[in-house]
Amino acid sequence: MESSDTDKKNIMSHANHISLDLIPDPFIILKSDGGILDANTSFFTLAGLGRDESIGRDFRDVPLLNELAPKVSASLASGIENIERMSFKNRHFEVQLLPFMHEDRYWFVRVVLKDITNFIRLEKELLKRNKELIIVNTLSSAFISSENIDLVLEDLMEKVLLITDFHTGWLLIADNDQYFRLRTNRGVSIELQQHIVQGGVDSFSHEAIRSEEPIYIVEPSVIARNPSLRDEGISFLAIIPLISNYHVTGLLYLASGGNREMDFDFAALLSLVGNHVSHIIDKIKLFQETRRLSITDGLTGLYNSRYFYKHLDSEIARTKRYGNSFSLMLFDIDNFKNLNDTYGHQAGDDVLQELARTLKAVSRETDVVVRYGGEEFIIILPNTEEEESITLANRILQAVQETKIRIGPAKQVSITLSGGIATYPFNASSARVLLNAADNALYAAKAAGKNRVICFQGKMNEKNI
Ligand code: GH3
Ligand code: MG
Ligand code: MG
Repeated sequence: MESSDTDKKNIMSHANHISLDLIPDPFIILKSDGGILDANTSFFTLAGLGRDESIGRDFRDVPLLNELAPKVSASLASGIENIERMSFKNRHFEVQLLPFMHEDRYWFVRVVLKDITNFIRLEKELLKRNKELIIVNTLSSAFISSENIDLVLEDLMEKVLLITDFHTGWLLIADNDQYFRLRTNRGVSIELQQHIVQGGVDSFSHEAIRSEEPIYIVEPSVIARNPSLRDEGISFLAIIPLISNYHVTGLLYLASGGNREMDFDFAALLSLVGNHVSHIIDKIKLFQETRRLSITDGLTGLYNSRYFYKHLDSEIARTKRYGNSFSLMLFDIDNFKNLNDTYGHQAGDDVLQELARTLKAVSRETDVVVRYGGEEFIIILPNTEEEESITLANRILQAVQETKIRIGPAKQVSITLSGGIATYPFNASSARVLLNAADNALYAAKAAGKNRVICFQGKMNEKNI
């Protein structure tokens, strides 16, 4: 009788194991006192425990389960299901805690561990992708074909800080002579800005470039020895060299007070940001170059007529706003056809180039010098009245006349100019009429014997054109 009872128990227990083993996920039943009532083979395998040493043992002594203690207590106290995430030996689990009451008396908790390692990996991957997409979208939106490059860079810097979760950063961009100049900064004191401009971080820049690493972290002890960085409260400094065409064209500095953990994901994020910032700077440079070419005369490097018309409109608007005046000088080379016919077209081109240099040299920084057409040049003189512009025009005429222009190896020539001057708003009240007035005055100068300037007299009306 006794043995048959034991047999029955064994059979029951065996049947029980088989049924628990039908559950593929690790599965445990805990008693309300914390003892392990039973579990399936998946659990024992995962926990690395034998069945005999586990049954009856307190689950809090089992490394895999002990971190669940608060949740188990909560489930037992409330009788409500709980879901928890945990990781064990590089695997991730979603743990379901299902409390139940046996015959209205004893509480038990069923614990199921669902392996979600692949899901977590996928989730992380998706988050990373999502972040990459956010980076691309956020940074690309900084490059709107704005006329004001400084604003674009400022906006770009702000977005970089937002993405990387820094509050302080600056951007150095290589200029034509390969010197890295401070182009934008955020969260940087005036003192540190001056320090940077005066070359105070140049040695870091050189180290970062020399390292050929995607990210260069400045040693904390080195930072500590730099008073400007120390005073700024900086204790972490990362430099991301911006590469374009195998060359470092810029350096993105990111700084913070506390330390930053440089794990793989963060390093990948910074290098991705660096990559995009390089692309954007390339685009900005291309945009600037295209714009420069579109407003520049190819032969002389002066502004072209396209720029002249645009600028004339804004000069009129500005002059209206401030209630002052500006003058426009139109010059035409005297007898240029003769020069071309005598010495050839190439010599004519050399003369045009030399004349452009003289005009630039004699005019003021604020004057806008334009090659208006073939051998016609315009200078816009902002905030300048008639009298002052006559003085300047005569100086130009004299300088041009005195300039000996080399054409070919052994020859040199000199030229003369005729000029017409018109002043806004005294001679005309619109761009078109003003230009006409200057043209009329130029015609008068030619008619009067060339090599002179004449000012338009009186007010020209739209009707007189
Ligand atoms: P005037 O004193 O009345 O202005 O006489 P001009 O010979 O200068 O005037 P005209 O308008 O008859 O001739 C202008 C000449 O300028 C004609 C053209 O061959 C020359 N020219 C215009 N553009 C260029 C250029 O880009 N290069 C060269 N070499 N010559 C040019
Ligand atoms: Mg002409
Ligand atoms: Mg001419």
